[in-house]
Amino acid sequence: MTEVAVIGAGVAGIQAALDLADHDIHVHLIEREPTIGGHMAQLDKTFPTNDCSMCILSPKMVEVARHPNVTIHTCSEVEGIEGEVGNFLIRVRKHPRYILEDECNGCGDCIAICPVEVYNRFDAGIGVRKAIYKPHAQAVPDIVVKDNEHCIECGLCYDVCGKEAILREDEERLLEIEAASIVVATGYATFDARNKTQFRYLIIPDVITSLEFERMINASGPTGGKLKRLSNGKPPRSVAFVQCVGSRDISVGRPYCSGVCCMYAMKNAMLIREKNPDVEVTVFYNDIRAYGKGYEEYYERARSLGVRFVRGFPGEVLEENDHLTMVAENTETGEVETFHPDLVVLSVGLEPATEADEVARMLGIPRDESGFFGVADQKVGPVLTVKPGIYVAGTATAPRDIPDSVAMGGAAAMRAYLDTIRVG
Ligand code: SF4
Ligand code: SF4
Repeated sequence: MTEVAVIGAGVAGIQAALDLADHDIHVHLIEREPTIGGHMAQLDKTFPTNDCSMCILSPKMVEVARHPNVTIHTCSEVEGIEGEVGNFLIRVRKHPRYILEDECNGCGDCIAICPVEVYNRFDAGIGVRKAIYKPHAQAVPDIVVKDNEHCIECGLCYDVCGKEAILREDEERLLEIEAASIVVATGYATFDARNKTQFRYLIIPDVITSLEFERMINASGPTGGKLKRLSNGKPPRSVAFVQCVGSRDISVGRPYCSGVCCMYAMKNAMLIREKNPDVEVTVFYNDIRAYGKGYEEYYERARSLGVRFVRGFPGEVLEENDHLTMVAENTETGEVETFHPDLVVLSVGLEPATEADEVARMLGIPRDESGFFGVADQKVGPVLTVKPGIYVAGTATAPRDIPDSVAMGGAAAMRAYLDTIRVG
């Protein structure tokens, strides 16, 4: 059998699919969201080069969608897996999109006319979307999805769609996919900052998460790339980043380092200083972990741009009248300092994707003590699981940055390719 299933279509899954497809293997790329791309599509720039995230990702999304050897299944979740290497049977539930996928041309007329606005998960909550929507402007496939939970059946979109592509009724479909091997690239979730109650996330509007900040600073995001206080819409004069929120913290069950937060905070701090040199930026940290190639130099660049790094964590964030107050002991100087930032960005850690438990159970592969997919032996091969024919890639296995995720996607693809050759 020369088919492989890739579960999860973030950058690691897309890379695995492309590498396999280029070697004449047919790939079923299974994604539960209405678009492929994963978290990387939400990011503004990437460290340590400050390249635009979508400028790297979008061509890969388009290439995988156009590839004759790839079948993409969006809005789809794996329900069951049987068999063994060379002969897996994967049952997939495709959730209704309420759209004729072959008819919709993505023109957006229905979005423009829809009167319903709801929370936009892609913008991490700082923007809104319509009840009929595209997840984002560069979504793949470039078609809409109707959110029937929020649709009020006003009928406007049915009337405006010249392609008659919108369905009032639709149903779930069950697919069965046969594959010689499986690549699991289900990605990560971010730590729920409400669990660190002292920072008053979702209580104080000007306390936001790093993912919300990524959307805010993104030119195609809900603020058009402008920094804003969510409390009053004014530009902040000072921004504070708090590191390790949900990382290296046994009190919330997250003892591990998330690996990427130091770097993404530096990146965001730098972007603020480059675009708004009058804005003061302070990063509260415990250790700076800049371990990759060019990362230490990146840290030095952030300092040279005027980003202030304070070793120590604020005990809490307080709101009094129109300003925020944070008190932290600078453990390098021994001084207790008081800060009044206009905007606080919580550098939330990475944790296993919500469906990781269920997928691991179906696959019969263990998870590690942190809940990420366990690998058979990190030294022998970081993409191998205990089950022959099942490979893992990217942040499904542990917090990782984009280059590592891409490398693992390629490594998992090569292992899966060898399986297809072995079993013919
Ligand atoms: Fe355009 Fe119709 Fe598709 Fe909406 S459903 S984007 S109106 S083709
Ligand atoms: Fe929006 Fe639903 Fe009305 Fe269509 S029928 S325009 S999706 S509220």
